[in-house]
Amino acid sequence: MDCSCDVVVLGAGASGLAAADRLARAGLRVAVLEARERPGGRVDTVRDAVDGTPLELGAEFIHGKPSVLLKLARRAGVKVGTCNDKHALLWRGKLAEGDTSFDFLEDLAAAEPPDRPVSQLLAEHAGDWSELEARMARSYVEGFYAATVETASSLAIARMERAAEQLGGIAPSRSLQGYDRVLEPLVRGLMRRPETLFFNAVAEQVRWSPKGVEVRARTREGVPLGTFRARRAVVTLPVGVLKAAPPEPGAVRFVPHLPDKERALARLEMGPLMKVLLRFRSPFWKEREDTRPYGFFHAPGQPLPTWWTLEPLRSRYLVGWSGGPDAEALSRLREEEVLRQSLEVLGRLFKLPRRALHERLESWRVQDWQREPFTRGGYCVIPAGAVDAMEVLARPVQDTLFFAGEATHLEGEEGTVHGALATGLRAAREVLGR
Ligand SMILES: Cc1cc2nc3c(=O)[nH]c(=O)nc-3n(C[C@H](O)[C@H](O)[C@H](O)COP(=O)(O)OP(=O)(O)OC[C@H]3O[C@@H](n4cnc5c(N)ncnc54)[C@H](O)[C@@H]3O)c2cc1C
Repeated sequence: MDCSCDVVVLGAGASGLAAADRLARAGLRVAVLEARERPGGRVDTVRDAVDGTPLELGAEFIHGKPSVLLKLARRAGVKVGTCNDKHALLWRGKLAEGDTSFDFLEDLAAAEPPDRPVSQLLAEHAGDWSELEARMARSYVEGFYAATVETASSLAIARMERAAEQLGGIAPSRSLQGYDRVLEPLVRGLMRRPETLFFNAVAEQVRWSPKGVEVRARTREGVPLGTFRARRAVVTLPVGVLKAAPPEPGAVRFVPHLPDKERALARLEMGPLMKVLLRFRSPFWKEREDTRPYGFFHAPGQPLPTWWTLEPLRSRYLVGWSGGPDAEALSRLREEEVLRQSLEVLGRLFKLPRRALHERLESWRVQDWQREPFTRGGYCVIPAGAVDAMEVLARPVQDTLFFAGEATHLEGEEGTVHGALATGLRAAREVLGR
């Protein structure tokens, strides 16, 4: 199935779709190679088997008011609803309102050079923060940023916090029809063009020179798909995949190899993330006065420290979240054990025996992003001193290879869908500018 075109795009996640859409609309012939059988990458919506409720295995929230994403949502005719942003916190065995326990965020956003691990910043604030705030700060960085506080860059996190603030804070909203619907206009546009979007097409080698690229691909089952030839390539693969070496599934060999990129990648990390989706016979948290007001429940120090409801959707689901070292540890367990630990945590939050919760459980799903060969983790984590590595990763190579994807967002929106979309548009602009 050899193919010739102007630009080959590797990956059909948010960034690859945005880049391909823009390039195709500018009149270029584009071939998008996507390893999975679906578009979206880390936007992975499934639907409840009983009532069709959209369930997000990957990206779930729209943080703030990112125009690039909201414009797309409007184009898709998707309704965006504000989540219940009231937080409850389990501290010393008691569940109480926790909104003021996030005051540490201002200090995280205000971190100044020199860059140092977040653990150092936490130690510097030990005097100003209560024990609870210090605990929440650690839990927040590990959970939300999927990072280890001992290595994560305080400057990168400060930049992300400030970027979120500029977008209207981190108060979340969600696509009421599912996150995948937001990307649908891009997918539909590309599907209308023959021989543009190739699913089950795993890129395995990119041979390049300033004259052009030849990308060799196979199906996931190993059937060769031939060579895709183009003048240029846009690479949107996750950091976890770029760090992997052949013959690991998904790993791509660049010929000649890219020593600058390899050094940059060696300094970046992929943060572990795990989600647990539980459907109960009834939304018992809404049936009790003490838990009814809340949309988020925090149990700092627990293996799955954050839980939320699907509000404003009415549903019987609770979603559990674990990031960083906890997620890494959970990833080594059997799914049944992850479920057991999830019910233990919920038992502490809601003062119910695990057995009683299990009796109320109708369905469960564990989504471990470390085990996804075409992602290999949650999102990029920047260790202290490695902010410049992202710049190296984002830099085009000899007017031939262009790089996009969440980890190449240089203004603090990495690890987000809107950030990924923006990098795809940036890469398309770079290609069109040549
Ligand atoms: C659990 C989780 C929760 C998240 N929550 C949020 C959230 O609430 N809000 C938010 O804004 N962001 C969230 N994010 C982050 C967001 O999902 C990502 O930043 C964004 O979707 C990344 O898009 P991308 O295009 O850079 O990468 P991806 O979506 O990973 O796309 C890369 C594509 O490349 C494909 N690929 C990989 N290897 C190959 C190969 N060899 N050949 C061909 N194709 C290949 C992959 O299959 C994938 O489709 C979350 C992420 C995770 C994992």
